Amino acid sequence: MPSTQLIDNWQSVLRQITTMAQRYARNPSDIHLLAVSKFHSIDAIATLAKAGQVAFGENYVQEMLYKATALTESTIAWHFIGPLQSNKCKEVAMTATMIHSVDRLKLVTRLAQYRPTSLPPLKVLLQVNIDDETSKSGVTDYDTLVTLAQAVLNEERLQLCGLMTIPAPRTDMNAQRQSFAQLRQMRDQLAQQLDTPLPELSMGMSADLEAAIAEGATIVRIGTAIFGHRNTTHSLHGE
Ligand SMILES: *Cc1c(COP(=O)(O)O)cnc(C)c1O
Repeated sequence: MPSTQLIDNWQSVLRQITTMAQRYARNPSDIHLLAVSKFHSIDAIATLAKAGQVAFGENYVQEMLYKATALTESTIAWHFIGPLQSNKCKEVAMTATMIHSVDRLKLVTRLAQYRPTSLPPLKVLLQVNIDDETSKSGVTDYDTLVTLAQAVLNEERLQLCGLMTIPAPRTDMNAQRQSFAQLRQMRDQLAQQLDTPLPELSMGMSADLEAAIAEGATIVRIGTAIFGHRNTTHSLHGE
């Protein structure tokens, strides 16, 4: 994709976020755009970073490392949003600003163990499998969520920030809103029970952006609407 088109798409997504925020009486500056760059090129990321995009999301550890190494001079904040194997926690702890996909205790201890003291604590979101789909990772019951949240709060090298979800794909906006509302309510309950602020709700992708903003998303994860369709046949990640 030519870089002018890429920047047009990006600006158009930013405008949509502002418009939708206003539609639901929200402050646009409370909603952050995470540009999901998996399978997209270093050049495309560099173009957007130069234009002012800071946060980029990646799903594969090797691909994130490869890109982070190639783009060291820029001010990019890498967000890891994919399923994580415990033997790859070290790489994520050393590279990412935030991880959205923590869903079990082993990841908590390993990420904390490997987070370098030279970096600020790693920001952590707990992934919730809100529609209870067998195909998806994430916590399905509230008690497990509480246990995980407490484990993160006990780690000095980690900072618990909130929850993330990938709902079952639905086209009807009211149906989309239901899943997002559930995540928000779960967050509210957890924050109250643990007496800790959990400001972030990572929810909403290209196809359900408006529903997520309507229900309180603070981080929206957008790939296709910015970069176009992913060419998943040529691998950038080698996993
Ligand atoms: C790929 C991906 C996205 C981006 O999805 P689009 O439909 O391309 O906007 C968002 N979140 C996660 C967890 C992803 O894996």
